[in-house]
Amino acid sequence: MIHFVGAGPGAPDLITLRGAELLKAADVVIYAGSLVNPALLELCKADCTVHNSAEMTLEQVLAVMEAAEQAGRATVRLHTGDPCLYGAIREQMDALDALNIPYDDTPGVSSFCGAAAAAQAEYTLPEVSQSVVITRMAGRTPVPEPESIAAWAAHGASMVVFLSAGMLDGLQEELLKGAYTPTTPAALVYKATWPEEKVVRCTVGTLAEAGREHQISKTALVLVGNFLNPDYQRSRLYDPSFTTGFREASR
Ligand code: SAH
Repeated sequence: MIHFVGAGPGAPDLITLRGAELLKAADVVIYAGSLVNPALLELCKADCTVHNSAEMTLEQVLAVMEAAEQAGRATVRLHTGDPCLYGAIREQMDALDALNIPYDDTPGVSSFCGAAAAAQAEYTLPEVSQSVVITRMAGRTPVPEPESIAAWAAHGASMVVFLSAGMLDGLQEELLKGAYTPTTPAALVYKATWPEEKVVRCTVGTLAEAGREHQISKTALVLVGNFLNPDYQRSRLYDPSFTTGFREASR
């Protein structure tokens, strides 16, 4: 059995209880070495075989999985954050289906949640934005044209941009083609939940400059939108004048 496990955004105690149990029981671990905190590997058994997928191709990862399966060993494939975002798990799952190897998937805390925690922010503020766009700049992986940053920026919603900290000049330019203005608040969150975490608050107009000043060009998320402003309407759910399924309005 292959267990895909979300490692969480960095802090080793942000893996789920289920993920930690699977890691403790694993005979083989293949972890995404570029972003998974190696401190998590301390949970592994002394005789666990550990592979760093940053140095491997998909074919090599699959070969390790297949050999482990044939030997009756339990394998954990440890991905950063939650495996469902930019994790390249689908191609592994399809290949495992073709090989008749069973697998399951244990979710993790995505870095976009870790980044909100670091910035003490809520993406979905009443009358500011009720949607979060999770996207990226096109790099070596293309982005379909209708999903360009400029197209999403037209909505002015809360936005989290992955995999783009090395392209802040281009990102800034694209963001300004939409509903955001140079004064729309933004933040660069570097290594959310790691000891070296940094939250740099800026605006869309000063994004690239902030990246240069703080030397942030990788392992960071760009948060954009008025949710980073202090103005919003309080939630109706907790408003005394609002009746809910659990509580009568008191005035
Ligand atoms: N599956 C992961 C994302 C993998 S893509 C998740 O759910 O978070 C890798 C990108 O995620 C990085 O380039 C960076 O943009 C972002 N990232 C991952 N961990 C991060 C962290 N702790 N802080 C800030 N950004 C992070």
